[in-house]
Amino acid sequence: MSAASLTSAPDFLVIGAGITGVALAGQLARHGASVTVIEAVQVCGGSTGRSAGGIRQQFSNPLNVTLAQRTVNLVSQLRDEYAGSFEYHQVGYLFLFASRASVRALQAAIAVQNELGVASSWLTPDEAAGMVPGLYLEGVVGATFCPSDGFVDAEALVLTMAREARSYGARFQSGSVMGIDVDEHSVRAVRLKSGETISAGTVVNCTGAWAGKVAALYGATLPITPWRSQCYQLETTRIACDHPMTIDFDNGKTYFHPSGKTILSGTDSGHQVAPSWNVPFDFAGSDPLVRRLVSRFDYFDDASVVGGWSGVLELTPDENPICGWTHFDNLYTIAGFSGHGLSIAPGLAERAAAELVGARPDVDLSPYRLERLSAGTASDLSAERMSMR
Ligand SMILES: Cc1cc2nc3c(=O)[nH]c(=O)nc-3n(C[C@H](O)[C@H](O)[C@H](O)COP(=O)(O)OP(=O)(O)OC[C@H]3O[C@@H](n4cnc5c(N)ncnc54)[C@H](O)[C@@H]3O)c2cc1C
Repeated sequence: MSAASLTSAPDFLVIGAGITGVALAGQLARHGASVTVIEAVQVCGGSTGRSAGGIRQQFSNPLNVTLAQRTVNLVSQLRDEYAGSFEYHQVGYLFLFASRASVRALQAAIAVQNELGVASSWLTPDEAAGMVPGLYLEGVVGATFCPSDGFVDAEALVLTMAREARSYGARFQSGSVMGIDVDEHSVRAVRLKSGETISAGTVVNCTGAWAGKVAALYGATLPITPWRSQCYQLETTRIACDHPMTIDFDNGKTYFHPSGKTILSGTDSGHQVAPSWNVPFDFAGSDPLVRRLVSRFDYFDDASVVGGWSGVLELTPDENPICGWTHFDNLYTIAGFSGHGLSIAPGLAERAAAELVGARPDVDLSPYRLERLSAGTASDLSAERMSMR
């Protein structure tokens, strides 16, 4: 055998061990399939480990709501089964809105969520103020709240999911995919930087912001734009520990939630970047953040930014994920969560795994197909209105 050794072919080769790849591997292994996950850096080495950890069900698209609802159930079950493995705070998500133009659309989103069984509700400004002390109400026309939304320690959650996936037989292997060999209709093998070649029944691209780069290895493109986003850690003399993840939607989608001894926060001051594992943190980005926080909440008056990190979002044009067979008969893509992968990926992975093993998922995934984003194709999936970017 040449330097490139051919290892035994698993049923599924999942590229990427972020929340999507790990959740999918676990679900495929539960179906009895053999699964290998290839990861270039480490579990959670991409966007998942850089996220703010928010898991919410407040979306405008019914499919996003349904899958996020399932994520909440799956994460709650995992927390119970692996007690103490990760922190999950279901303190609710409070969205504050200042634009009258959005009210009708947001009330419609609440109706969609309620119809699907999510207990979200529309609040008056005064009701919102009762939840977040020190909130300046100027300009706020209303708010939405869902008590079972919250935030999680994303890395600890995904490491727990990986542990569970291994217990069902999934294998994790480190390696950077540098080449994908194809013939007219199918992927024949995946080549790693180490020189190893792996063939598999089906290859699944779960590489988030890198998904377009991986597609380029077989000469295709994916409409996923890598977009830098930052999380900031702030200290104030007053930290309220038990109030919800709060989002000042029409003020730069500025969010914050208490996280241990600091406050984790962010705002939409990002820009397009090349996908990278080492996007430098830009401290200057904290100026607009602090201005926006101070304009809405009194207890940020004495806040200081004490740290933070950068990561890369994976934006599709309508800010909904891509999920389905792409380009070849044995190639499937799940990527492009557009900043809400923690909320949607676990629920989606369960349904995608059913589709991949030839079962019929109990939810129609066709709105997420790549084809909806092709020029000239009519899509019945509307852009996600409750997007955080
Ligand atoms: C600052 C920030 C805050 C966020 N906050 C939230 C939030 O509060 N709530 C929420 O729902 N979402 C949030 N997100 C978005 C969320 O992090 C992503 O949607 C989600 O992590 C995507 O998961 P993924 O598994 O698809 O991709 P990733 O986590 O990026 O995983 C992809 C993996 O593929 C690997 N990979 C790439 N190329 C290769 C290759 N050639 N070979 C092998 N492996 C490869 C990478 O190393 C990586 O580990 C945030 C993102 C950022 C950047």
